[in-house]
Amino acid sequence: MVHIVDTRLLDRIRHYGAFNVDACFNCGNCTAVCPLSEDDANFPRRLIRFGQVGMEDRLLASRELWLCYYCGQCSQTCPRQADPGRYMAAARRYAIARYDPTGISRVMSGSWVGTLAVFVLLSAFFVIWLLWHQGDMNGQRMAFFDYIPGELIHDTGIGVFVVVGLLMLAGVASVVRHVLQAARATGRPVQLPLAALPAALGYAIRESLAQSRYRQCDDETDDPEPWFLRPWAVHLAILWGFLGLLAATTWDFLFKPIGSHVSLLYPGRLIGTLAGLMALYGLTVALWRRLTQPTKYYADTRFADWFFLLLMLATVLTGFAAELFVYLPRPSAVAYVTTLVHVVLAIDLIVLLPVTKFAHALYRPLALLLHRWVELGAQAGATAPAAPEKA
Ligand code: SF4
Ligand code: SF4
Repeated sequence: MVHIVDTRLLDRIRHYGAFNVDACFNCGNCTAVCPLSEDDANFPRRLIRFGQVGMEDRLLASRELWLCYYCGQCSQTCPRQADPGRYMAAARRYAIARYDPTGISRVMSGSWVGTLAVFVLLSAFFVIWLLWHQGDMNGQRMAFFDYIPGELIHDTGIGVFVVVGLLMLAGVASVVRHVLQAARATGRPVQLPLAALPAALGYAIRESLAQSRYRQCDDETDDPEPWFLRPWAVHLAILWGFLGLLAATTWDFLFKPIGSHVSLLYPGRLIGTLAGLMALYGLTVALWRRLTQPTKYYADTRFADWFFLLLMLATVLTGFAAELFVYLPRPSAVAYVTTLVHVVLAIDLIVLLPVTKFAHALYRPLALLLHRWVELGAQAGATAPAAPEKA
């Protein structure tokens, strides 16, 4: 396979974070100290080399890009202050932007102006769209779906899911293409046997939902904290909280008659409340840490990262407020406006999913799945009996 060398690759990655890998003299210290680097996952040094020699296809195809959780240990011990951890974070943002066919990811990563411009335009569009069809506010009881027709919100949701699904499919196709190209470049035949798929899936799900490698990363720090404050637990709370909220929204979408009032024990509401509390905990700790310990954790937090966490927090808080208003008598205009804000923020969150940092929730398990599947296919090929020779 011919590799195209891109001499501007490092400069382009710098758009997504500041680092100094020009100073790297390849000593390997970062690889030795990284708690996740193993024989089969030699990083971050290898990925730095890909950046230095302009091998974009190898960088985008690498599993290691998605294994790193940016604990920062490699940056602390680098003798040349090359900041390899920050390079890994920037390379991940770069990969997400390369998989985004709309270019929105690049705009949002570039500056706070770009991030806010995208958010304001998107929100304004959906506010106008929903208010275009507004009805009356019922002052006796909360009836949001009379104010903004439930069918309109339902149909808008379907449209949003279709657009987001197509964007995600485009990203998935790019990841698959890069990983398979890199596997073929090794010269060995690439097989993806269906029999190996469950094992590969299990590995990707375990790594992603239980964050076993992140825990390993945290366990090796010399500054142990209570488990519920460790970065892996906070990250897990945000991830599970968001997945729970997505599940509750989907449940409501499929099973709840539009505008109906339900008990707190109704499955969709129960899941939503528990997931909301979990997300609230994770987001509060993550934001608090970014504020109070910026050099210890998240040294490379960009405006887009702050923005996404704040957008999630605002969605959760307005969701709880909207839930409360349903049970209060004589709702005021504040109740209707808060619920409208919640609906628009939730739509924004879904629309921005494939183009923001949150896209790693899709690309990480996908890359892990593909790499493990290719590995298992290669092992199966090596142990398969040779085909009988033709007479
Ligand atoms: S520790 Fe620093 S200088 Fe050594 S290989 Fe890693 S990035 Fe380069
Ligand atoms: S930031 Fe942590 S996990 Fe990532 S490469 Fe550096 S040491 Fe490894």
